[in-house]
Amino acid sequence: MSLLVVGSVAIDSIQTPTEVRENVLGGSATYFSYAASFFAPVRLVGVVGEDFPHEHVALLRDRGIDTSGLHVVKGGKTFFWKGKYLSNMNDRETLEVQLNVFGEFRPTLSDEFKRCAFVFLANGAPATQLAVLDQVTGPRLVVADTMDLWIREQHPDLMQLLKRIDGLVMNDSEAKLLTSDENLVSAGRKILDLGPKFVVIKKGEHGAMFFSEHETYVLPAFPTERVVDPTGAGDSFAGGMMGYLAAQNNFDPKTLKEAMAYGILVASFNVEDFSLERLREIDLDDLQLRMEKYKKMLSF
Ligand code: AMP
Repeated sequence: MSLLVVGSVAIDSIQTPTEVRENVLGGSATYFSYAASFFAPVRLVGVVGEDFPHEHVALLRDRGIDTSGLHVVKGGKTFFWKGKYLSNMNDRETLEVQLNVFGEFRPTLSDEFKRCAFVFLANGAPATQLAVLDQVTGPRLVVADTMDLWIREQHPDLMQLLKRIDGLVMNDSEAKLLTSDENLVSAGRKILDLGPKFVVIKKGEHGAMFFSEHETYVLPAFPTERVVDPTGAGDSFAGGMMGYLAAQNNFDPKTLKEAMAYGILVASFNVEDFSLERLREIDLDDLQLRMEKYKKMLSF
């Protein structure tokens, strides 16, 4: 089954305690698409400016990602994000955001894109996410991501969105902000009351929690010593998860748990280098190998 993603396609500048990388390929939809493409065909909807390097589009296209929905605005500038990681490599500060063409982004989907069965609304304005939902015809599964900016600044739109999606993925700090609850278990339950049928709360190096009406569980992160750049961990997690679900054409509880595990493993590779560098080096066999180790680690 093919998978539609809409979100940011960006140029990032990243500072970690030891290294700085300027103007690298980033964006929520970029990380998501690349991660999901290990498993299923992906259709990407996004917007960039004329300054966006052709080689980045080629990288996604060569990967089999359908970039026909990536709109290039003549004379426009691509979304830019600059972030700095603190010494724990988990917490980060946004130093600069230039929305540029992404700020005005009102996607129009082609007929083919409208019929995608699996839809992921990656991090972006809830109004834009809703505009995409209004266009898709009968999707089987719709999952969205969000962040503190939208929780604070577009709360009514976000509330509307939550009523129309099947699943929500978000960070622990964002779940606490959304529910004003410091306890993640009750925060997860409160989010279910807002609409989604399942909620995944990402906890960075501590893995991810899953909540649905009948299930609550935690899957740990895959322990890796080599954390070079955590940017895109959340998006590559979501990409691995949704890519696996689309490939299985299923989202029953068992498949969702397997999908969470694949998401965690893709994210564990993603953090081992900047931008998409590490994901570009691996293939499905590497993921399967890590899955074997992960399963071994979890059985006792
Ligand atoms: P993650 O580390 O998974 O949260 O994703 C990081 C990516 O999100 C970076 O590549 C940024 O370009 C992108 N990003 C940062 N802020 C925003 C925003 N407000 N809307 C959409 N994408 C964003």
